[in-house]
Amino acid sequence: MKKIAVIGTGLSALSLVHHLPALDITFFEKSWRPGGRITTRRHENYIFDHGAHYLKKDHGVIELNEFLKKINATKILKGDFCSNILNQSPIEEKEVIVGQKGIESIPLELHKRLRYPTKFSTQIKRLKSHNQEYYLETDNEEFGPFDFVFCCIPFEQAQNLLSDFIDYTNIPTPVFDVIWTIMIAFNKRLGSPFQFGYHLTPNISFLMNQNFKHEFFSDECWVINMRSEWSKEYYNIENYVLEDYVIDQIKKHFQSDAKAVYKKSHRWKYAYSKKSYKELSNQNYIESIDHRLYALGDWCQGPSMQDAWLAGKKLAKHFSELRLQI
Ligand SMILES: Cc1cc2nc3c(=O)[nH]c(=O)nc-3n(C[C@H](O)[C@H](O)[C@H](O)COP(=O)(O)OP(=O)(O)OC[C@H]3O[C@@H](n4cnc5c(N)ncnc54)[C@H](O)[C@@H]3O)c2cc1C
Repeated sequence: MKKIAVIGTGLSALSLVHHLPALDITFFEKSWRPGGRITTRRHENYIFDHGAHYLKKDHGVIELNEFLKKINATKILKGDFCSNILNQSPIEEKEVIVGQKGIESIPLELHKRLRYPTKFSTQIKRLKSHNQEYYLETDNEEFGPFDFVFCCIPFEQAQNLLSDFIDYTNIPTPVFDVIWTIMIAFNKRLGSPFQFGYHLTPNISFLMNQNFKHEFFSDECWVINMRSEWSKEYYNIENYVLEDYVIDQIKKHFQSDAKAVYKKSHRWKYAYSKKSYKELSNQNYIESIDHRLYALGDWCQGPSMQDAWLAGKKLAKHFSELRLQI
């Protein structure tokens, strides 16, 4: 049986493998857990979804919501939402799809069901080829040979791995936004009339209360995203400076004297792609001339979870058709 390496265990990788027939597949993941940008941080009683927040109900990618519900990865929640807090837009009730036990339930449940061997904490640094087979290298290990390698990672990272094998000269580059994310637990309620919303201040683009997603904690937990232009300008800001700035902004906005009892920030270098590879090139993935190396991710289709899912599904279809001819 042909041997396949899948680099990454984000939703695009999980979708790809889910949509492929049973094969000899090994995942390689630089983190200690699956999910990539779909991640939940736990600290004592607190839970923060500090990458993806929720899946839209009406994203239009067929069967995804139903499948995630069937495997008990998600639940539907109603929350009070404000589309523009700065402009005092009306607060409306909005239904969203969130993880059953944090958004990480989505990749955890999917990965568990796939049952393929996974090398966690294994960052692939280089690809080598020999006799039409491929080998993956970390700083101190080599894996292989593989007949096919799928790089399910952000565009630039895939380019770094594949540029010896794929000519990128005429391949358009999807540009990624940087996003700073801050997780804060306050010791008492802020009294917010909404649970999630956009544009709290000119620099805070989105915030979401975590208490309504998960079991009730006595403290109040929020995840806050800074605007991408701001995040780019303050790319190298010290974490504690950023956290104190955001806490101050929030307390001012809600006129609250609540105390921040936990704070943590994370910089997402590759948060969202502004324009997808599909829009730029009318292609659904990047493929080597020998049809053995591929690059894909959400960036192929758009900026969101459903795009990562769609990217994996489209490549799986192409690959399954191609394999019949190999
Ligand atoms: C702050 C933020 C908020 C978001 N909010 C939402 C939202 O509310 N709703 C929504 O639908 N989407 C949201 N998204 C987008 C969503 O998270 C992504 O579209 C989706 O998770 C991307 O999946 P992926 O598989 O393409 O990439 P990733 O999730 O980035 O997966 C790539 C994986 O590859 C691994 N990897 C990378 N390089 C290597 C290497 N060399 N060797 C081994 N492993 C490697 C990484 O560790 C990672 O696990 C958000 C993203 C961010 C950052």
